[in-house]
Amino acid sequence: HKAKRVPFVVANWKINKLQTDVADFLAQVNGKVPDQRTVETGLAAQDLFLADMVRATAGTPIHVVAENVHWEDSGAYTGETSPKALKDIGATYVLIGHFERRKFFNETDSTVNLKVTAALRNGLRPIIDVDEDMSTYAQFMDAEPSVAQVAAALAGVSVDQIRNVTIAYEPTWAIGSGEAASADQAQKAAHLIRQTLAKLYSPVIAEQVRVLYGGSVTPDNAREIMRQDDIDGVLVGTAALDPEKFLQLVDIAR
Ligand code: PGA
Repeated sequence: HKAKRVPFVVANWKINKLQTDVADFLAQVNGKVPDQRTVETGLAAQDLFLADMVRATAGTPIHVVAENVHWEDSGAYTGETSPKALKDIGATYVLIGHFERRKFFNETDSTVNLKVTAALRNGLRPIIDVDEDMSTYAQFMDAEPSVAQVAAALAGVSVDQIRNVTIAYEPTWAIGSGEAASADQAQKAAHLIRQTLAKLYSPVIAEQVRVLYGGSVTPDNAREIMRQDDIDGVLVGTAALDPEKFLQLVDIAR
């Protein structure tokens, strides 16, 4: 059944690229990213580059991804970016609840849920980040995603909307550490997420939602990780700063 889900490779540049870096990257991958029926690709960047990226990638299969979004459509929220504005400039996806947002910017399960529903109601597709259940990890040294984060993020998300959701499992200890989860750990975690989706929705829907792995993914470890039954792609920080490595990852995903 894995074949029914289109693989998805998402670069998360965080705040690591400037205007010329973005342009250079796009010039280098231009024409080399395959059709989105075989693999979907997304580039997540700082808000202020997104509109330029939408223009530069027009007519290509690359999706432009925001790294965060506000939960209200408009209003008095100085410094935030509204989901309406992201939709307006042509962004397709938005990362929500990344570990760094939870850690440094006080994002909670409830703000994540507000942002997920705001994204969906505005026609943006959320990529919901869930991290580790640290109590389980400390106890068993095993990778286990936070089922509570999955359930909380999806509160109020309808059966119709869930099809537009991607879930990314990113264990905190693997992010930026150079130490990815093993393919086996990643598979177990993705499977648990899928079981959670089956309970919240239905087994059929659980088979339709894409689950990604993120955390120190490189072209060297991606093949084994992406071969796993329940893993549909990768969310990549460091390695995806490099256009060659990004293209290699896309190639591995097809
Ligand atoms: P990394 O980052 O690939 O550098 O570990 C992944 C992420 O934070 O999404």
